[in-house]
Amino acid sequence: MSHNSIVMTARIVEIFRSIQGEGPYAGQMQVFVRFFECNMHCVWCDTPQSIGDGKREFTTYTPQELIEAIKPLTKNAHALSITGGEPLIQADFLKEFLPLAKKLKLKIYLDTNGTLPDQLTKILPMLDIIAMDFKLPSSTKEKSYWAEHEAFARLSRRKELFVKIVTTKQTQWADFKRSLDILKKTAPKTWVYIQPSYGELKTGIIEHCLELYDKAVPIYPQIKLFPQVHKIMGIQ
Ligand code: SF4
Repeated sequence: MSHNSIVMTARIVEIFRSIQGEGPYAGQMQVFVRFFECNMHCVWCDTPQSIGDGKREFTTYTPQELIEAIKPLTKNAHALSITGGEPLIQADFLKEFLPLAKKLKLKIYLDTNGTLPDQLTKILPMLDIIAMDFKLPSSTKEKSYWAEHEAFARLSRRKELFVKIVTTKQTQWADFKRSLDILKKTAPKTWVYIQPSYGELKTGIIEHCLELYDKAVPIYPQIKLFPQVHKIMGIQ
């Protein structure tokens, strides 16, 4: 019988250095690690190669190999962005990898769809910043995740947390309000970013976002309307 321990590996789509385009750190340099595969299929998804549709392309990394791949990209970066896809699908790998990543002296920034709270508990102590989505069924055309989002927000409030709500013309106020009600109960100081769906930016989506903004602010003041600026700048 062998006593060699099995080394965990991750399935990674891409590793790159770029300007964060979303939320409160928009405009700051980060190193991005895009994990393969997602448990959801939102209609607007901008990373179809990472959700397990279309081209199934990923590279396998051990924790140490991933560290070596990140090291040359850290110039001026303030954070390591763990993104996807849905990175929490690979939480068991992250549990081994993040203690090594801490030595890079970057903040650990998790970008997540906020639907896998049990997976989050495996790595929560190692995170600094959580960028959590609320996925509204009227936007995603998927099932709802209210219970999952509530549990996720409750756990995440111990960390620096902000919430993104991708908004399309289909997004209904009832769904939006329900998200705010959940946050009021679980993590009431959290800033919420209304993020207009990029594909609809030129076709009147801002008007719809402004309507939601004006309804939301009286019941939940910490709201910003903010687009994905990296796409506007034409960068990765
Ligand atoms: S949760 Fe994110 S990565 Fe997954 S399908 Fe939706 S937009 Fe794409």
